[in-house]
Amino acid sequence: MEIIDGKALSQKVKDEVKAEVEKLTAKGLPAPMLACIIVEGNSASEIYVANKQKACKACGIESVVIKLKNDVSQEELLKQIDKLNKDKKVSGILLQLPLPKQLNEDEAINRIDRHKDVDCLTRENLGAMFSSHHDIVPCTASGILRMLKDNNIEIVGKRAVVIGRSLLVGRSVATLLMEENATVTICHRHTKNLDKVTKEADILVVAIGNPKYITKKYIKKGAVVIDVGINRTENGICGDVDFENVKKLCRYITPVPGGVGPMTVSCLMENTLILHKTHNI
Ligand code: NAD
Repeated sequence: MEIIDGKALSQKVKDEVKAEVEKLTAKGLPAPMLACIIVEGNSASEIYVANKQKACKACGIESVVIKLKNDVSQEELLKQIDKLNKDKKVSGILLQLPLPKQLNEDEAINRIDRHKDVDCLTRENLGAMFSSHHDIVPCTASGILRMLKDNNIEIVGKRAVVIGRSLLVGRSVATLLMEENATVTICHRHTKNLDKVTKEADILVVAIGNPKYITKKYIKKGAVVIDVGINRTENGICGDVDFENVKKLCRYITPVPGGVGPMTVSCLMENTLILHKTHNI
């Protein structure tokens, strides 16, 4: 069994981004800038945004955070997005989710200029991804693929099972695995006999948001298990996979924390750089 070190790989990705940014600035070109919009009141979101700002600093990417009050109106939120869309210095816009109930998430996401949509969540960018015409893909999905490739894990012809069908994670990673010629099954809340399906997986990606849900009975011996879950429990942060229970069965497994999470942040840096180079300079 090997543990995939997401922290070390994410540092490598950040180093690559930093080197590229330095090349640009050495030529007198502007550095990329990431703008994060956050609506106050969600402590997890505050931590995520702080981590993203830290990563920007480490990569030489400029960052700005727009903090909105918890009772902000939809109109005000859209106004802020429009302002960032027009701002030539801004290469990427990230709307930290989830939003409070009074706000229309779908409308806000789709207001972001697709050339600044670093999370790749607008309908236009998702459409581009699903039709294999993408500049960028959602950060978590791209981080997972990078983890597989960096460890020389074969994907072609393998059975991949993804549990979770959110646009941001499940469906995106399933699409990329299919593009890499895996045979992919997507499971969700209504899947019957989940363990029978997952027991066939050479590569199992779990993104459900349920602490330690996946135990031995779901794992095929020798599988590669990618745990996307981030669950805050009384005993700290844990994934959707019961790591201690399943690890001996796996060929590779990602830990939580220190697995997919840091890769997501580094791939966000990469996406910001790609959008900057492709559309903003
Ligand atoms: P979501 O709530 O949008 O989707 C969860 C999906 O899991 C749904 O499709 C649902 O049908 C499925 N599901 C839930 N319970 C299930 C069950 N018992 N059996 C089968 N399917 C089930 O969540 P999301 O945004 O995709 O996030 C999933 C998890 O990944 C969360 O813990 C989230 O915090 C985490 N996450 C981590 C990162 C990262 O960088 N590591 C990024 C995004 C999300």
